[in-house]
Amino acid sequence: MSTCLFCRIVAGEIPATRVYEDERLIAFNDINPQAPMHVLIVPRAHVATLNDLDASHDALVGEMVRRAAAIAGERGYAAGGFRTVFNCNADAGQTVFHLHLHVLGGRKLAWPPG
Ligand code: 5GP
Ligand code: ZN
Repeated sequence: MSTCLFCRIVAGEIPATRVYEDERLIAFNDINPQAPMHVLIVPRAHVATLNDLDASHDALVGEMVRRAAAIAGERGYAAGGFRTVFNCNADAGQTVFHLHLHVLGGRKLAWPPG
């Protein structure tokens, strides 16, 4: 059994509210949402951080980003705006070391981020 939290969610060993899934990705609601929409888009295959990507992942990352826009659009946030975030390692606040794209929307988001 994997010890990686998001591998366990992908495997269905830990419950999550899934909002999208296909052969390569799943998307589910963040357990501690920071906005009215806070979805995490996660590859089924384990990749720890952005630093671990190589050219073989290019299509996968493209699918993650396009899925983020599609989910935001379905919720009505395309025109008003939304935010996508990959946190990488400690200084960015990454806490789960399985690649994930945060998709946030539904409120005004400050910049620069904290
Ligand atoms: P990070 O800080 O690594 O960029 O983001 C990890 C995210 O995963 C956090 O926003 C956190 O709330 C979320 N998270 C942590 N554990 C769980 C969980 O068990 N289920 C869900 N749905 N989200 C989780
Ligand atoms: Zn994993």
